Amino acid sequence: MLSNEILEKFFNYFEKMGHKKIPSSSLLAPNSSTLFTTAGMQQLNDYLSGEKDVIKDFGTRHLVSCQKCFRTNDIDEVGDERHHTFFEMLGNWSVGVDDKGNYFKEGAIELAIHFLLDELKLEKEKIWVTIFKGEQGIPRDEESYNLWQKFGIPKERIRECSLKDNFWGPVYQTGPCGPCSEIYYDRGEKYGCKNPNCGPNCPNCNRYLEIWNLVFMEYNKKEDGSFEKLSQTNVDTGIGFERLVSVVQEKETAYETEIFYPLIKDIENNCSLKYESNKKEFRIIADHLRAIVFLVSEGILPSNIGHGYILRMLLRRIIRIEKKLELKDNWQRTGINFFINFYQERYPELKRKGEEINLVFAKEKEKFEKALERGLKEFKSEFLKFKDKKIIPGKFAFNLYQSYGFPLEMIKDLAKEEGFSVNEEEFQKEFQKHKEISRTGAERKFGGLGIDKIKDEEEKIKVIKYHTATHLLQAALRKILGEKVQQMGSDINSERLRFDFSFDRKLTEEEREKIENLVNEKIKENLKVKKEIMSLKEALESGALAFFKEKYPETVSVYTIYNEKTGEVFSKEICAGPHVEWTKELGFFKIQKEESLGRDLRRIKAILIEK
Ligand SMILES: [Zn+2]
Ligand SMILES: [Zn+2]
Repeated sequence: MLSNEILEKFFNYFEKMGHKKIPSSSLLAPNSSTLFTTAGMQQLNDYLSGEKDVIKDFGTRHLVSCQKCFRTNDIDEVGDERHHTFFEMLGNWSVGVDDKGNYFKEGAIELAIHFLLDELKLEKEKIWVTIFKGEQGIPRDEESYNLWQKFGIPKERIRECSLKDNFWGPVYQTGPCGPCSEIYYDRGEKYGCKNPNCGPNCPNCNRYLEIWNLVFMEYNKKEDGSFEKLSQTNVDTGIGFERLVSVVQEKETAYETEIFYPLIKDIENNCSLKYESNKKEFRIIADHLRAIVFLVSEGILPSNIGHGYILRMLLRRIIRIEKKLELKDNWQRTGINFFINFYQERYPELKRKGEEINLVFAKEKEKFEKALERGLKEFKSEFLKFKDKKIIPGKFAFNLYQSYGFPLEMIKDLAKEEGFSVNEEEFQKEFQKHKEISRTGAERKFGGLGIDKIKDEEEKIKVIKYHTATHLLQAALRKILGEKVQQMGSDINSERLRFDFSFDRKLTEEEREKIENLVNEKIKENLKVKKEIMSLKEALESGALAFFKEKYPETVSVYTIYNEKTGEVFSKEICAGPHVEWTKELGFFKIQKEESLGRDLRRIKAILIEK
């Protein structure tokens, strides 16, 4: 049975049973506390809580849908059998209870078991279920326990689970929640661990796959963490569609079904490696490429924050693996088209998106390729230093992120391939530190206009160039006029830099020229701009310039502009960045104006001319 037929059967069955089909909502979460839609019920939250009237808006209390979802919490697990970033979730709902025969636990269990047995022809003997065993003052789900037996599942195949496994929600901090009852399918001994206790939720194996989660919302979690009975009860169910398809088709994972397999075959054709011996890599590519297709179709573009970061991370992870597998150029074209064709009937927003998605892919690749090569080199030359503990320190990982744009998930891949792990806690600490520093820095250097707020990519690049030019100018001023020159202020936009400094007279024609020439010489020399994170004390002791008006945090970043061949340092400043990587990118530096701002205070305005 192909996935399309399974989906059709699902809708037909529930429509026949009085459910109204509702379309998938956007992948972008309706509520800003999460980035993405992670479950089918999200778009129904207000109905489930009783704030909105389901009858008024849908004409019925019974709904059914196939929802596009995206989860970021297990991204580094993608590649195993069970985790996907993008996936589809099927669900049926019974919202609220009234006297017109609305269903709760009994109806939900009956509908589910009949669909699996009568429509999908799964074997009853292979079905196992779980129920909530009762915990933290919430009673055991006795009713479900009895109902499963009523519908033919014997006690021996009913497992009782804890709050952690069999209590659902709420999606946000507060809201509807309740015990759940999960349906598992026994895939047979060949997937098992042979432990006599093996069963649903087995920690050792995936013999029993969860295919359906029935949530019985009967509580509301309050802000103080306590639970109260909901004024209305709801049934909310979820089926991981990919998993269901793999179970019905008796395939090891969804990757062996027609949802992914044609692409996997195509990847094989585009490299000299086989899926059988490189499953993880092939699966990551297949999963991520599909996710990219959907994210771009929602209007997301790669960036360093929010949705854009997730997209960038997926792209970069693929680009790294693509390099590792030595995939042929343009392999992704067929993959992107494959997914668009496969899904466009369900999701018409995918139509005619092929070129755009290819373009996003190609641009990100162009941007990342060189940094990837350099970063891999650095990783390979350094990681053995940590072979004793086999843990990559957070600082080292953060440097890979900061200097080469390696997403954490990718660094974890690299580490794992060498049998190492990454100190993620330390990485996050570094990340937070950096965020605080760049906030201070952005406010200082850009007069309150943080660089993150600049939307236009080209404008951003210009501002960054002027920032690096400002460092070169300060160093040149001190070299030509003497170290008594002190920065008094600075203002940068995408059209010019403005630098205020202490000096007691007008510059001569000759001095102006010398300063300009020195900056241009250093641009031509193509100096490297290097960033390091250190304590404020270390930074000052190392001779890094600080701006006296600034109050620095205890840990700061220091930018050194130096000749990579000779090691000669031209400029070193405490600064939050960002900067260009190589000074050659700056073009031609020209002082437009030098003027007095008052006693002992001068101002230079300068521009960069693109070459
Ligand atoms: Zn087991
Ligand atoms: Zn700076």
